[in-house]
Amino acid sequence: MPSRADLHTHSTYSDGVLTPRQLVDYAYSRGVRILALTDHDITDGIPEALEAARAYPDLLLIPGIEMSTDVPGNEVHILGYFIDWQDAGFQEVLARLRDSRVDRARRMVEKLARLGAPVSWERVLELAGEGAVGRPHIAQALVEAGHVASVNEAFERYLGRNAPAYVEREKMTLPEVVELLGRVGGLAVLAHPRELEPDLDRLLPELRAAGLVGMEVYYQDYAPEEIERLLGWARRFDLLPLGGSDYHGLGGPHQREPGDIPLPDEPVQRLLELAAVRGRV
Ligand code: AMP
Ligand code: ZN
Ligand code: FE
Ligand code: FE
Repeated sequence: MPSRADLHTHSTYSDGVLTPRQLVDYAYSRGVRILALTDHDITDGIPEALEAARAYPDLLLIPGIEMSTDVPGNEVHILGYFIDWQDAGFQEVLARLRDSRVDRARRMVEKLARLGAPVSWERVLELAGEGAVGRPHIAQALVEAGHVASVNEAFERYLGRNAPAYVEREKMTLPEVVELLGRVGGLAVLAHPRELEPDLDRLLPELRAAGLVGMEVYYQDYAPEEIERLLGWARRFDLLPLGGSDYHGLGGPHQREPGDIPLPDEPVQRLLELAAVRGRV
């Protein structure tokens, strides 16, 4: 039985287009009954999401986060569920990561000017609003300035990891992130691992040892045979097979709406049980 859970979504507090309240309303209207808000490096949308969720007694809102880490030649994202987002030490780490996002975005905007695709720095900050600035905001500014036709094209031509305006930013290591999430009571789950498959043999034992409890298996455009392969990895390392839409609302070929990715009920229930054991629900 599908669980009507969506465990990966973004709001205006990072690079999504809906406010937490709009996201909760929209996801609920699409049948989602267990929703995780997982903004990049920021938890400031959680109070609004929790408040909005109170209108729906049969909706469970999971306070979450998505954090990025670096491995050679790749970027690995880790989701944290049921985090104690009010922890002061945790917020200090997040504030530092967001500061480094601002520096890095500014350097990307400078590179774009040199590449003949100038965008206004003020406009990028405006698009980011009060939240964590990210490449999607620069992509939107590039679309608005008429340099590219879509966010996707902006990533392909300028902002992608191997594109000319890309700039690295400060990131924690993978085990550091998993341990940090564990320290604030969170349940750590490896996000969208398809591109990491060649490295999973090496990564998963280390992450499992650091406390990883699950990995995304059901995600956006993952095909049935990819899901089967990832299920094999999850079974081998005793990880809960989870996932979600990674809804941002920016459109594009990969976009899935909240609730579009049905998850099996059993691993979702086991995630909730783990949270209960840790006193997080
Ligand atoms: P940042 O955290 O600033 O490095 O930006 C990473 C975010 O950009 C990801 O979480 C995605 O939301 C988005 N992103 C990455 N690649 C693409 C792409 N090819 N097209 C659209 N969005 C992308
Ligand atoms: Zn994002
Ligand atoms: Fe991600
Ligand atoms: Fe995401």
